[in-house]
Amino acid sequence: MIPYGHQDVSEDDIQAVEEVLRSDWLTQGPAVERFERAMAEYCGVPHALAVCNATAALHLACRAIGLGPGDLMWTSPNTFVASANCGRFCGADVDFVDIDSRTYNMSVVELKRKLNQAERRGRVPKVLIPVHFAGEPCEMRDIHELSQRYGFYVIEDASHAVGARYRDTAVGSCTYSDITVLSFHPVKIITTGEGGMALTRDKGLYEKMLLLRSHGITRDATKMTGASEGAWYYEQLDLGYNYRMTDIQAALGASQMQRLDAFVARRHELAKRYDRELGDLPLDLPARAPGNLSALHLYVVTLREGADGRNRSQVFDTLRNAGIGVNVHYIPVHLQPYYRSLGFKPSDFPVTERYYAHAISLPLYSGLTNDDQEYVVQSVRRAFP
Ligand SMILES: *Cc1c(COP(=O)(O)O)cnc(C)c1O
Repeated sequence: MIPYGHQDVSEDDIQAVEEVLRSDWLTQGPAVERFERAMAEYCGVPHALAVCNATAALHLACRAIGLGPGDLMWTSPNTFVASANCGRFCGADVDFVDIDSRTYNMSVVELKRKLNQAERRGRVPKVLIPVHFAGEPCEMRDIHELSQRYGFYVIEDASHAVGARYRDTAVGSCTYSDITVLSFHPVKIITTGEGGMALTRDKGLYEKMLLLRSHGITRDATKMTGASEGAWYYEQLDLGYNYRMTDIQAALGASQMQRLDAFVARRHELAKRYDRELGDLPLDLPARAPGNLSALHLYVVTLREGADGRNRSQVFDTLRNAGIGVNVHYIPVHLQPYYRSLGFKPSDFPVTERYYAHAISLPLYSGLTNDDQEYVVQSVRRAFP
């Protein structure tokens, strides 16, 4: 089976992990700090906090901005459930903004309409979590402008977009947001096995997330409520978690970072070939804005109306039967039973639901060979006789 995504681990990566295993530190230590510094420098942002996964980073980000019961959080319905769940972890109410039918990212037009309505009803969101779907950056300048006008925080879920660029900024620079979250799950652009990171320009938000990453405990005497009682002494100042990343994971991440730009370049090479070879089929191919650099986490095709009498499930099954691990991203979050139990229902976000009914993710990862891609192309063509 050719999977839709796969990690790319080199001998150098294995060597880097082996060195940590032979060292004195296994849990969070010097390799975590090195990985954080490398990513902060790459993104051009002062503060980076590595954690055990992106879900934890989203949770810390929501806690850091003070999201709580009675507050409102908005995100895209076309995402992995974690983008929405972080709001629920904090006891906040979650709502969604429907997507743009071309980019599959949160629609700015719809966001404006919904904010206008929310203001009239007297309940604007405390935080908006745009998701850079498939690695294609959202319209961050517009989103930032709206956040200033309506007074909400912005947390970018850049789980798909490590290595992407929005206009003349690196995704992760937080030029247009308060916090950006990255994922290093093996199907994403670079991996640490499990892992995530929160990036910010705001020292206060960083220190809050730093505290909450490790139980809410500080060993910094200047932050304690009273005098230190000795070298063993620490204080728990808030209710935190154990969201630490290990040095084993961080060494893998820092080693992978050296090939990050090459990974993204290879994904573009593969995507251009799909663009060329599938352009005449009844499919809509992914849109990429010329001023941005997508990280191309996913290559999603959508069947056009009619599509030569084929429907998505037929094409999907044909490809799976041909040994191609196609996938569908995403089942709209609001249609998950958990979110339905909160009152959401079909037709709430029609553009997302229409997209979902027609979407198929084709294999795309840096280690996909030209021969395997050719087999995928021929199999897709055969699915439309
Ligand atoms: C993968 C993913 C996450 C969660 O990442 P983990 O590191 O697995 O916790 C969150 N949001 C989006 C959009 C993702 O794709």
